Parts: sequence; structure tokens; C-alpha cells
Amino acid sequence: MEVILADYLGFCYGVKRAIKIARENASADGTACTLGPIIHNPQMVDRLRREGVGSVDRLEEMEKGTVIIRSHGVGPAVYDEAKARGLEVVDATCPHVKKAQLSAKELVDEGYSVVIIGEKEHPEVKSIFEWSSGKAQIIETEDEAEAIEPCGKLGIVCQTTFSGARFRQIVMRLLEKSRDIRILRTICTATDQRQAAAIDLASKVDLMLVIGGKNSANTTRLAQLCSEKCLTYHIETAAELQDEWFDKIKKIGITAGASTPDWIIKEVYKKCQNR
Ligand code: SF4
Repeated sequence: MEVILADYLGFCYGVKRAIKIARENASADGTACTLGPIIHNPQMVDRLRREGVGSVDRLEEMEKGTVIIRSHGVGPAVYDEAKARGLEVVDATCPHVKKAQLSAKELVDEGYSVVIIGEKEHPEVKSIFEWSSGKAQIIETEDEAEAIEPCGKLGIVCQTTFSGARFRQIVMRLLEKSRDIRILRTICTATDQRQAAAIDLASKVDLMLVIGGKNSANTTRLAQLCSEKCLTYHIETAAELQDEWFDKIKKIGITAGASTPDWIIKEVYKKCQNR
């Protein structure tokens, strides 16, 4: 059985960095916690808990200790509240996300009407919105772009993981809205690279295994894209592999979401090779 790994897969730079920072701040007494799960991967969250990094959903759950801001980032009010509660703040916001947040703030400060292109419910988009002092409009479709009122100065920022192609389509609809437009293409390449590599591999193999949390949006998207090219299964761990999936299969491709740890990818790879 031939097993091929996608050229780009697994942890992106921002996730690796956030996990490293979390580990450096682990605490034996359980007082170091990330605000929200550090990534959408239950196996990694469990492992970190055993290493001394817990997870809380709200600051109210912490009486003391260190709160670690995950790669998606948070709005400025969260830093203020954490400090007011006497918590130490360790910021693991991905630098690409930080750039989008500060760009939104800068545009608002300079008098621009700000549009954020991204998914309204995504935590990163919510954090960028907070940095715009709640003044930005969030849109994710061309129809929503059409509905934006014309204005004097228009500033555009983007969710870091948004599709580059969709960003361009939406921006085209915004060009008529103002004569003074600043477009800050705050997209990071990690998502596009992983998707392009997955599509490329899926068109060369009989079966794709997409590894990552079932609650991970980027992993689910990878699985959708691969399933348009070949038979595809989305799994969280090697334990889910089923013998009958591999009947008459000669080539298997493997990819993984940006929140999938290396050790899980290796386990799946080895199990496939041993078939
Ligand atoms: S996908 Fe890009 S922006 Fe998001 S955490 Fe990873 S490196 Fe940072």
C-alpha cells in the first residue's frame, strides 16, 4: 500500500507557537489556563491539561494564576478584565491575527468605515471586531458587500483564514463604495497552502484520510474539498480506521487540519503503511 502525505499538513506556525507558549507557562497547581480550548483538537487539549495547562470558557472561572490568550486572539476588554481580576496575561495571539486586529483599530482611528471580511461567528473575527471598538461591519458574501452603504473612506481587513479567491470576489463588489479605499489583505497563507496541497493529493490517490477534530472548521473544509476528488474519510485518531475502507485501495493520501498534532498524523500514517 502506498501512503502519501500532503506537502502541507497539520499545525500551522500560529498554532505551534501558541502551544509552545502554553507549555512554557504550565503550572503544577492547575492555575494556568487558556481562555477557550487552545485549538479545536480534544486530544491536544487533554494532553495539555495533563501537562499543567487547563482551559476555561470565562475569566470568572479563574480566581488566580495565568490566563493564556490562544492564537485566535481576543478583544482589548478581555486584557483589561484579566488584569482587573489580578490575573497574569500571557498572549499567544498569532502575529498574523494581531496584525489584522491592529489594522482594524488603526483604520477606525484614522476615520475609515471598516469592513471585516470573514465568518461572523469565528472567534478570530469577533476579536478583530472588538479591536475596531465595535464599529466595523462584518460581511462574508458578495450580496452583503453590495448592501454596504457608500462612504467617504473605506478600510477593509480580512479573517486570516479566509479564502483568497472569495476575498477578491467580495472586494470587487466594494470598490464602488468609496473613492478612498484601503485594502489590507490580512490573509495568512497556511490555509490556502493546506487546501491546495490536499486537493492536489486527492486527485492522485484512491482514498484520502483527513485527520482533525470533528469540531475543527478548517479540517471539515479539507474533508469537503477532498471528497470532491476521491473517496474521503474524516477521522480524529487512528482508532477510527476501518478495515473495509481499504478494500481494493492501492494509494492512500493523508492530510490534516491546522490543529492536528504530529503524533496523531504519525500514528495514522504507520497504521496505513502496515496494511
Ligand atoms: S492559520 Fe495562519 S493566522 Fe491562523 S493561527 Fe495559523 S498561522 Fe496564524
